[in-house]
Amino acid sequence: MRGSITLHPEHGVNPSLGVCFWCGGDDGTVLLLGLNKGKEAAHRTCVGYDPCDTCKKNWERGVVVIEATDDQPDDDRPEIQSGLYPTGSWAVMTKDAVLRLFDGDSGESAIRHGKAYINKEAWDQLGLDDEPQGEQEVSGS
Ligand SMILES: [Zn+2]
Repeated sequence: MRGSITLHPEHGVNPSLGVCFWCGGDDGTVLLLGLNKGKEAAHRTCVGYDPCDTCKKNWERGVVVIEATDDQPDDDRPEIQSGLYPTGSWAVMTKDAVLRLFDGDSGESAIRHGKAYINKEAWDQLGLDDEPQGEQEVSGS
């Protein structure tokens, strides 16, 4: 029936905790997957690219720069933007740092949107550690 959950015969509403793609933390959502193609739901599931409240707060401190690739990773993750797949690495940068990193209009555009996607080569040039994921700041110095 439309709008209802078909229960799993063994796992019932078959719940799963929502996980933030960006930090791997709980995002405060609970998914009720029901039949779920006959499978037991994973204990934790990532369903999208919306940042959790903690990540959102971090991102709002500057401009978030997100590493993205045009090769779809093996986990079949969806595009975040046409032809771009986020790797999960990101950093919050000051506006000054963004203007030094990006040429001309793309720096202004990144600041206007509060975010920018960069490829692996550009990400590697930032010289950031890959671990822990996110929560790295690039200062304007
Ligand atoms: Zn998060």
